[in-house]
Amino acid sequence: MKVNLISDTVTLPSPGMLDAMQNAKVGDDVFKEDPAVNALEEKVAQLFGKEAALFFPSGTMANQTAIKIHTQPGEQLICDHYAHVFNYEGGGVSFNSGVSCALIEGERGRITAEQVASKINPPDFYHSPLSTLVCLENTTNKGGGAFYDLNTIEAIRSVCDEHHLGLHLDGARLWNALVASGQDAQSYGALFDTISVCFSKGLGAPVGSALIGSKAAMEQALRVRKIFGGGMRQAGFLAAAASYAIDHQWESLSEDHRKAKELKSVLEQLPFIKKVEDVDTNIVIFNLLDTAKEAAFMNKLQENKIRFISMGQGKLRMVTHRDYTQSQHQYMLDILQNLNF
Ligand SMILES: *Cc1c(COP(=O)(O)O)cnc(C)c1O
Repeated sequence: MKVNLISDTVTLPSPGMLDAMQNAKVGDDVFKEDPAVNALEEKVAQLFGKEAALFFPSGTMANQTAIKIHTQPGEQLICDHYAHVFNYEGGGVSFNSGVSCALIEGERGRITAEQVASKINPPDFYHSPLSTLVCLENTTNKGGGAFYDLNTIEAIRSVCDEHHLGLHLDGARLWNALVASGQDAQSYGALFDTISVCFSKGLGAPVGSALIGSKAAMEQALRVRKIFGGGMRQAGFLAAAASYAIDHQWESLSEDHRKAKELKSVLEQLPFIKKVEDVDTNIVIFNLLDTAKEAAFMNKLQENKIRFISMGQGKLRMVTHRDYTQSQHQYMLDILQNLNF
């Protein structure tokens, strides 16, 4: 038995998804003539009640494009200090858009309207960078899969409106938030100017993300995507996988959430584990009492063909996903419960 919990991106296309890919009606998407891509973009836009959407090869490119169209060089965006756009996009915020980040120490990657308001530089104080954008992340990656309640986002939206700031959502795992919270996609469409969603995380597609927003915003995004080298030709094979994922592989995220919660219950019983963070969706973050033993612990599990990652600063992370089967889960729980360590 092998268990890979390094990320929910390790999944392979299901048989149904491969069928959908094989049967996709494709064309040249750089000429906007790929029916499968056009259909996916329309489906996603409608789902969120927005005018338009654009298919991207990665979530990073979708976020970076959003930041580019919302800002001018020298300006500043506001986000949590855990934000993927700040930590894990290769410094693209400054490389691509020439903007800086005002960081907030939120709670598990989530920030509040008061915290946002406190980071907005006065627009007439020309010594400081002009604040123009707020980026939220839902669910939070480094925050361990926490999700927002809509009241918090509504309050942040009001602050943005009052101060003329754009509001972008990094929704790589928004699918998980929607399933776990029962919130609907349309509410998100109404609150954000732009939203990125990922099809290759929990949903199980091999490649792809989408950016969603107004028609005008997506026209700008199309140009930026071209500049970033993200124009793809017969991308419909990938879009068909994403469409299939939305139609058939979304609901089952609740299974991933159940397994993650069960992992937490077992982990927190183990004598050498100090703390397991709250588990709201499919990410389990924990640390050992003795962080010096982290490598030994990981090796021990690796001997049993179990993989996960260290996020640094003593944090270990397991992410459940659709290819983590019930029998793998049982195996995993047994190994953990009987570990001599
Ligand atoms: C994975 C992830 C991304 C980026 O996705 P890639 O497709 O890997 O570029 C963006 N934001 C968050 C929160 C993520 O977890």
